[in-house]
Amino acid sequence: MSAHAEVLVDLDAIKHNVATLQEKAGVPLLAVVKADAYGHGLVAVGRVAIEAGAHWLGVALLEEAVLLRTAGIKAPIIAWLVPPGSAFLTAVKSDIDIGVPSIQVYHDVALAAGHAGKKARIHIEVDTGMTRGGFLEEWGAFLEILKEPHGHVEIIGLFSHFARADEPGEKQNAAQLKRFLEMADDLNQIGIEPSVLHLSNSAATLMDASAHFDLVRTGIAMYGLSPDLQHLGNSKHLDLRPAMTLRAKLQLVKEVLANTPVGYGATAFTPDDTKLGVVAMGYADGIPRIAQGAGIYVDGKRAPIIGRVSMDQFVVDLGSDSLAKAGDWVVVFGPGYDGEYTADDWASASHSINYEIVTRINPRVSRIYVNSDGNGVV
Ligand SMILES: *Cc1c(COP(=O)(O)O)cnc(C)c1O
Repeated sequence: MSAHAEVLVDLDAIKHNVATLQEKAGVPLLAVVKADAYGHGLVAVGRVAIEAGAHWLGVALLEEAVLLRTAGIKAPIIAWLVPPGSAFLTAVKSDIDIGVPSIQVYHDVALAAGHAGKKARIHIEVDTGMTRGGFLEEWGAFLEILKEPHGHVEIIGLFSHFARADEPGEKQNAAQLKRFLEMADDLNQIGIEPSVLHLSNSAATLMDASAHFDLVRTGIAMYGLSPDLQHLGNSKHLDLRPAMTLRAKLQLVKEVLANTPVGYGATAFTPDDTKLGVVAMGYADGIPRIAQGAGIYVDGKRAPIIGRVSMDQFVVDLGSDSLAKAGDWVVVFGPGYDGEYTADDWASASHSINYEIVTRINPRVSRIYVNSDGNGVV
């Protein structure tokens, strides 16, 4: 792999976060590892999460679930973004639980289970007010269908997702919780009692014990990042350890005079005589082009971005006294323990959220697994 940039993933941090969340939740934990484990590496994180005590894994795509099974992971796995036409037969044969949001998908799954000669395990997804996934206007018709038990379909779970779990006191949360209970009751009325009810994401896990039910689905917090800085505080406040450090090589260091234009569009000029560093990462690697106000950490200090981020590189103002030289590693973001920028800093510099910062790091950047001492793990 290329050595222009690396993601270092601290697996001890993930273990710590799983244990912390497990304790706060008081119910089994589903580790959300969709989108390549939020950019941290699907299989490595899946394994470590289970090792650290998570009971379930959750992914969006069926393909992601299959990769986990192929890697030999035996824990229960749910895939909840499985559109019509997906490889349902593979899912059933591989013991992958499927999130079912529509009558069409229910029929597809039932058919595949018939072909497999094996029961499909499903979790019914209900729309309790987010107006994204799950049963809404089809709910009545679906209940009618469910009155006829289907021998090949086993209803394991009922789940939904909060739209505003990070906002305490927001009325929509109570309304969603109420609707969830009503929809669970609708099922009970026709003799169906799923054993696993689940509603909470990271924010709800940290905030609202009344929504924990039988399982919580934690994503961002397991990676050590806060679901919402404003309402929940930062990682440290939540006793979470950010697992990802992104570092890149300095391609070049050059001395320039004050008032020198930098980059496409000459949108910035050097304020003083200074040294500039060219960092070997750009928007093709997942650095947001819009980012302004973040930067890198090298030689014991921060160096801010100057000018626009390019496709494969961006330029930072190292300062005239910097000792950094071409070939040095610089930290783009990390936990922040040494003063480096954090994913939260990059998020605010990009008008985005920490989720997007870590998730968008391109696969061409190698993932390296380390423990908390920074040593590599095999
Ligand atoms: C992504 C996702 C989660 C995890 O959300 P976080 O805010 O990262 O904890 C939970 N449930 C579902 C259905 C999701 O899609």
